[in-house]
Amino acid sequence: WAKAEGRGRWAVYDPERSARDIARSELVAGLPAALERGEFVLHYQPIVSLLGGTMLAVEALVRWQHPELGLIGPDRFIGLAEETGLIVRLGEWVLRRACHDAEAWRRQFPQARLVVSVNLAARQADDPAIVDVVADALECSGLPADLLQLELTESAVMGTAGEPLRSLHRLAALGVRLAIDDFGTGYSNLAYLRRLPIHCLKLAGPFVEGIRGDSSELSADHRDERIVDALVRLAHALELWVTAEAVETGAQAERLRSLRCDTGQGRFFGAPAPADEITARLRAAEEPG
Ligand code: C2E
Ligand code: MG
Ligand code: MG
Ligand code: MG
Repeated sequence: WAKAEGRGRWAVYDPERSARDIARSELVAGLPAALERGEFVLHYQPIVSLLGGTMLAVEALVRWQHPELGLIGPDRFIGLAEETGLIVRLGEWVLRRACHDAEAWRRQFPQARLVVSVNLAARQADDPAIVDVVADALECSGLPADLLQLELTESAVMGTAGEPLRSLHRLAALGVRLAIDDFGTGYSNLAYLRRLPIHCLKLAGPFVEGIRGDSSELSADHRDERIVDALVRLAHALELWVTAEAVETGAQAERLRSLRCDTGQGRFFGAPAPADEITARLRAAEEPG
């Protein structure tokens, strides 16, 4: 009978599609209440020096502890939160929570000088209020500005009109560090990049994936290695730090180190984990011997 109503109606009766749509609309509808109920949690992933192996920073990565569906990753709800605008409030919660946790680590392990790195969605960065929100999060937590890093993608940095965001200079003036996330996957305007007050480039996972570290297993033309080599040189010429994302093997870490990459992040150095695990790691690093 669906057929009788015409081809266009078939999609309505596709059970797989409606399951997806329900999940999506339920997630959208559930987001604001989840924020009220405190169902979001932060996991932290170590960012480690490729020279000495010291944990220099952690990236805050949000998860939704859903009462029925369990732990939901950001890829399933950050996009929805951006579409609905909820990202502004969710992002502010992430920022305040991350600053609070980082300040607790600073008090307990002052020598570690651990930086916390927080993702900013384009929509948040585009909001002129972001500078006051960041300043207030620092003030309320007591975290020194230089222990906060904000990660923006290339497209977020370029803003909506293709102009670099004016807020970036005001954020940098607060003393926070700015990083370009997933560098190499977007459209970078190098002419602007060189004038922006950024501190760090995070090389996107796909380039790192192409690095095997074992010369016998290198991809035919070493293309990803050459790209990483060039991007590291570019970053260093601009006096920026470089973090390699998605480092999964020791061989990759070793190769990235020889390409002069400064820091690495990925499963090889530690998966994203609850704050307690970072505390335990800081404690272990402090123990003599
Ligand atoms: P991202 O900022 O590029 O974060 C890095 C992602 O790589 C994380 O995924 C992390 O779990 C994953 N990853 C870690 N180790 C490895 C590895 O060894 N190999 C590979 N292939 N991947 C690894 P996650 O946690 O699912 O986050 C996905 C994205 O969601 C983030 O990408 C970021 O764009 C967004 N996101 C997460 N938290 C927030 C947030 O608080 N605010 C905003 N605006 N976006 C967020
Ligand atoms: Mg990030
Ligand atoms: Mg990234
Ligand atoms: Mg990403």
